[in-house]
Amino acid sequence: MQMFDAHTHIDMKHFKNDRERVIQRARDAGLVGMVTCSINPASFRRTLGIVKKHKDFIFHTAGCSASQVTKDEAEQIITLTRKYSADIVAVGEVGLDYHWVKDPHARAAQEPIFSMFIQLATELDLPIVIHSRKAEERATEMLEAQFSGDVLMHCFDGSPEVAKRVAENGWYITLPANFSKYKNRVRSAEILPLNQILLETDGPYLSPTQGRNEPANIRYGCESLSQVLDQPIDLIAETTTENTKRFYRL
Ligand SMILES: [Zn+2]
Repeated sequence: MQMFDAHTHIDMKHFKNDRERVIQRARDAGLVGMVTCSINPASFRRTLGIVKKHKDFIFHTAGCSASQVTKDEAEQIITLTRKYSADIVAVGEVGLDYHWVKDPHARAAQEPIFSMFIQLATELDLPIVIHSRKAEERATEMLEAQFSGDVLMHCFDGSPEVAKRVAENGWYITLPANFSKYKNRVRSAEILPLNQILLETDGPYLSPTQGRNEPANIRYGCESLSQVLDQPIDLIAETTTENTKRFYRL
């Protein structure tokens, strides 16, 4: 059984003391790869080193923290992404966060930065990975107006209405390994065609277990999706792996 973690944060401090063991556990668990997401300039530079050490197993998507990024920091990330674009598989996660950001002006201020990254993806001809926490509809509207490349709605938790729009647009979603606890995510798994669904851990976050989340836990997502769709787990693992390779052009 071949599995792929389509979105994790292996550079984070949570993995500082045992990162190589975590990566080895992922290989031992049957993963054929993972995509790790950097979220600021320091994270970007750390990720360069990790990816270099694990060529053909760990791939780098470069984005930001939608709720925290400043314009200056976004510009630094964009400069780095242009410079290292040959070793980057996607722009993102980028987008809008209405969960941590409640103030309407602060929410609106996220949009021009999001647009800068959308333009970057167009310029570099890269797919884009979207963070759209409680902002799925607005993020969808902006992408429909501004982007014509491949879109992945990471950790998608949108309503069935937005899920249908995402499906019709031919975009992809990722479901986290603990997705069966969330009603919208289970509905999305039923709405999207299986060939538009990827699995992620978002490790160290969103753990399906008591402890820290890590790429080896992707099997929990496989098991849940297999149950929700009533399909054999091998088919789920194989198809979501193919989808991940197709989306990131690996
Ligand atoms: Zn993430």
